[in-house]
Amino acid sequence: MVFDTTNSKIVCTIGPASSSKAVLTRMIEEGMDVARLNLSHGDHATVKSVFETIRSIDETIPILFDLQGPKIRIGEMKAPVTLVSGNEFTLSIEDFIGDETRVSISYKSLPKDVKRGNTIALNDGIVRLKVKSVKGSDVITEVVHGGPISSRKGANIPGIKLSCKVPTDEDLIDLDLAAKLVPDFVALSFVTCADDVKKLRWSMDERGLQDTEIISKIEHTLAIKNFDDILKESDGVMVARGDLGIEVPIEDVPILQRDLIHRANIWAKPVIVATHMLESMTTEIMPTRAEVSDVAHAILERADAVMLSGETAVGVDPAGVVAMMNRIIKRAEKVLPRQDPLSVTSPKKMIVEIIGNLAYSAVCLIPDNVEAIISSTRTGYTARWVSKFRPPVPVFAVTGNLKVTRKARLLWGVHPITREQHVEKMDDLIQTSTQMVYDMGYISKDKDIVFTSGVRMIPGRTNVVGVFHVKDLVE
Ligand code: PGA
Ligand code: MN
Repeated sequence: MVFDTTNSKIVCTIGPASSSKAVLTRMIEEGMDVARLNLSHGDHATVKSVFETIRSIDETIPILFDLQGPKIRIGEMKAPVTLVSGNEFTLSIEDFIGDETRVSISYKSLPKDVKRGNTIALNDGIVRLKVKSVKGSDVITEVVHGGPISSRKGANIPGIKLSCKVPTDEDLIDLDLAAKLVPDFVALSFVTCADDVKKLRWSMDERGLQDTEIISKIEHTLAIKNFDDILKESDGVMVARGDLGIEVPIEDVPILQRDLIHRANIWAKPVIVATHMLESMTTEIMPTRAEVSDVAHAILERADAVMLSGETAVGVDPAGVVAMMNRIIKRAEKVLPRQDPLSVTSPKKMIVEIIGNLAYSAVCLIPDNVEAIISSTRTGYTARWVSKFRPPVPVFAVTGNLKVTRKARLLWGVHPITREQHVEKMDDLIQTSTQMVYDMGYISKDKDIVFTSGVRMIPGRTNVVGVFHVKDLVE
């Protein structure tokens, strides 16, 4: 019996091209696992309406709220202009309509934080400015690399720690909306240290968002430096290559990506690789060879998920892009090498991790017989540590909680099944969980399954692993 779903997950950014019920439905059919709502764009009414549409189509699809964080933007411009190398250009914290000589900037501490010689990048790093002097509310620069800019384009000041609080006041307003809608994940942009994540956690707890997980976006030099501490405080991370590629030398991005994925994998924290994955499909029906290769390599590096941004938010065929990504993932997963579980075990060696290791090892030792790992889980914790080892068979996480179902959906190889189980005894739990997966047609009678759970059904007490013949358990 073949369970024909990819292990690695697809996160799709929802925007004007993908907000309708019809398009969202097709995207889910083609393999979308997580919907990302970008709070940098779109007003609260739109976000709310898209949120409700997604929930009305499929209540098992997790929704990720992506908070803008201290993202700097230039202000409104009369018209798009092209800055010419060698010219002078002024960034000012005053409010006005910009032109080819000056533009307003959202970051009010800019004159205080920069000094002569600093680089400021505009429009995805295409335009580079060098600070010549600071006069009152104006920062006067020389255009080093000219290029196009237009209203509200992003700005980066590589290497500078911004003097603003994270989460920002705007983020807190967005969290008020989150408190009403209750998304499954909140992603925070421009995290620089573990404290940023802790502060977000407090702000979320204050709003009753205890069950919502935090994804830290790694897109600043300080986030690289403090990565292990940030990882500890976060429920998952995103390699946010768009801003990261401006903040660090662009040639460092692939090396950092590989390293960050590996470090997240060790601690079984889900990791998403984001930005420009199938960028050309925003306007074209086919990706470039380089893009296909990029997605495949993220999979071979063992990312939990790959993300689509403009491709699905404003692209010509959002569902088509998802289908393409699905094809690339499926192909790459066929050659994903097995790994020696001991070589990836965390230094902490928690019992749950040992159980994950044993489940994986059992599958590998009897490869033709075991068809699935079935994990009865209250919090998704067991499933997360089983997923860590990237087992070659699907992990069915049986849980009674829809919120757990949605969160588990981001995990590599985990396929949650929401079903309340009113049984106490371990024997009954094994039997009913296996029966459920069998009834869904995902396993056959003449094969085996590996079962994992906790005897006492308490989070963190995963302590049982067993191999069972399906025929002995199902009717
Ligand atoms: P963004 O984050 O699209 O919100 O900027 C992703 C990135 O920077 O890559
Ligand atoms: Mn970013």
